[in-house]
Amino acid sequence: MSEKRDYYEVLGVGKDADAKEIKKAYRKLAMKYHPDKNPGDKEAEEKFKEINEAYEVLSDEEKRSTYDRFGHDGLNNQGGFGGGQGFGGGFGGGGFGGFEDIFGDIFGSGGFGGGFGGGGSSRRRGPRRGADIKQSVTITFEEAAFGKKLKVKLNRSEECEECHGSGAKAGTSKKTCPTCHGTGQVQSVQRTPFGNIATQRTCSTCNGEGEINENPCPKCHGKGSIRKSKTIEVDIPAGIDDGQMIKLSGQGEIGEKGGPRGDLYIVVNVQRHPIFTRDGYDVYIEMPITFVQAALGDKLEVPTLDGKVSYSLPEGTQTGTVFRLKEKGIPKLRSNSRGDQYVKVVIDTPKKLNDEQKELLRKFGEACGTKVHEKQRNWKKKIDDLFKGFKK
Ligand SMILES: [Zn+2]
Ligand SMILES: [Zn+2]
Repeated sequence: MSEKRDYYEVLGVGKDADAKEIKKAYRKLAMKYHPDKNPGDKEAEEKFKEINEAYEVLSDEEKRSTYDRFGHDGLNNQGGFGGGQGFGGGFGGGGFGGFEDIFGDIFGSGGFGGGFGGGGSSRRRGPRRGADIKQSVTITFEEAAFGKKLKVKLNRSEECEECHGSGAKAGTSKKTCPTCHGTGQVQSVQRTPFGNIATQRTCSTCNGEGEINENPCPKCHGKGSIRKSKTIEVDIPAGIDDGQMIKLSGQGEIGEKGGPRGDLYIVVNVQRHPIFTRDGYDVYIEMPITFVQAALGDKLEVPTLDGKVSYSLPEGTQTGTVFRLKEKGIPKLRSNSRGDQYVKVVIDTPKKLNDEQKELLRKFGEACGTKVHEKQRNWKKKIDDLFKGFKK
């Protein structure tokens, strides 16, 4: 017999833990090892089963007290479980929301409400929910702001049209497994001081399927599904931001044995914009202005997501001043309001001035009472000036 870990140890709680503590520990671990979060990871799957088994016992007062007194053997004796149906059902559809709980910022059209659990957790015969698909798309800054209908190409499994998903060659059907008589499980009974202990194992003849496919469909090789490329239209909502996901329920991989499809998650990447940046629903822009505009004031043409808008820059504006254009930002998700646009004006100091411009600036300086000590053009001029001073 395989050695089982202590249930308290599995959940990482003390023997005296109360129901609340046990539930909390269970949720945390279940989240971590949930098959949806660890696709294809056998070890995580085993851990997940172990956690659920431990929780099933420790959350039930009667089972817990039996376990406390007799350990694992005491429970097996009651025929409570031993690798049976366990937690296959009732998980995803129940109080524990599967995916929703794990990813915080998903929004989308409701959750999948079925009762097939988190997907792939139970290896018995019967319907199995298809796997979820994650697909990335890249859209422009403007598309994210105003939304877009986007065609997304997927490579996903579809029902085999040759066998209509049965996996058996046309005109044939699968046979009930003679070893387990269709249950997918075989039982062995062991005598112990506590009485007879029944142990269940997955049937090795049919790998727990309960049936044998003697004539596999030649098109899908008995799988019942084949991979196909498919284009679907995705409604990208106005206001979506970089890194957010859209959930499309029932658009994932096809389920097995009539189980529902998994879900499709569209991960949205938003390209950078050459002049706008974004923080939440607000848009930021830096706008260069001249010293003259800053000093005298001007009518500015400010680019926004809606095109240019006119803004009256007041005279005497300081560099770095930020103006707000109300409701000129990104439309908010599922709302009629919008963020704002912030415009930071920065004085652009001219680098190349002609002689006339320089002269005007010197005069301006003098009018302001400022004596400007310009850098001398060359050393010789500096020396000349120096001697001029001496001669006086
Ligand atoms: Zn087929
Ligand atoms: Zn079998």
